[in-house]
Amino acid sequence: MRRLKITLVLVFSMIFAVGYSKTTGENGDKKLVREVMTKELQQSMTPDAVLADLIAGNERYLKNELIRRDLPAQVKATTTGQNPKAVILSCIDSRVPVEMVFDQGVGDVFVARVAGNAENEDVLGSIEYAVGVAGSKLVMVLGHEACGAVKSAVDKLDVGSENVTHLLNQFEPAIQQTAGERDSKNKAYLASVVKANVHVTVDDIRSRSRIVKQMEDDGKISVVGAYYSLKDGKVHMLGQDK
Ligand SMILES: [Zn+2]
Repeated sequence: MRRLKITLVLVFSMIFAVGYSKTTGENGDKKLVREVMTKELQQSMTPDAVLADLIAGNERYLKNELIRRDLPAQVKATTTGQNPKAVILSCIDSRVPVEMVFDQGVGDVFVARVAGNAENEDVLGSIEYAVGVAGSKLVMVLGHEACGAVKSAVDKLDVGSENVTHLLNQFEPAIQQTAGERDSKNKAYLASVVKANVHVTVDDIRSRSRIVKQMEDDGKISVVGAYYSLKDGKVHMLGQDK
């Protein structure tokens, strides 16, 4: 049933995206999108619709069919405010250009980035601001293939920096939860740890943020986990079970 719902939302979102991408200038030959997220549009979208919109954007990214945007116009249109539809917690990895991966424009999404997409108080505060104050409908934790931060934690890397050690210690619960020999050269094992880390982060966000938990229980937002494949650019959803 939920799968059907998501499929329907995806179809509507693609129709919406096509309509959106056809919004053009008056002369008709420059098909550039100038519009940005409005409060009305943001509030009209359900969490499932936002997720479907991001998935549709990733499909365009995979096909090299990014929406053509009038960026200066979008910059101008967002000068006085923003109404992002989602907040995405991603790794800092340069190979995961979040807005491009989901084909989003200026003002469309909040992006929090920290090595290994780990959650901490500042990240939680940022997520709470996004959903509680700015009206975003979706929280996504995005891990990725061959994550160097997670790999370094598996390897127990010690560079003599307490900051790095503190960061890498964040991934220990995911490592402990993952079956198999602690071996970062094993790509399947490393992928399992990265995915476990996404699940741990999603769970931590729910358990450590009263605001997020309450809003999700009320159906106002969703918290989801996803995994980005470096080899082809595809975003894989990691299941939405609470
Ligand atoms: Zn990474």
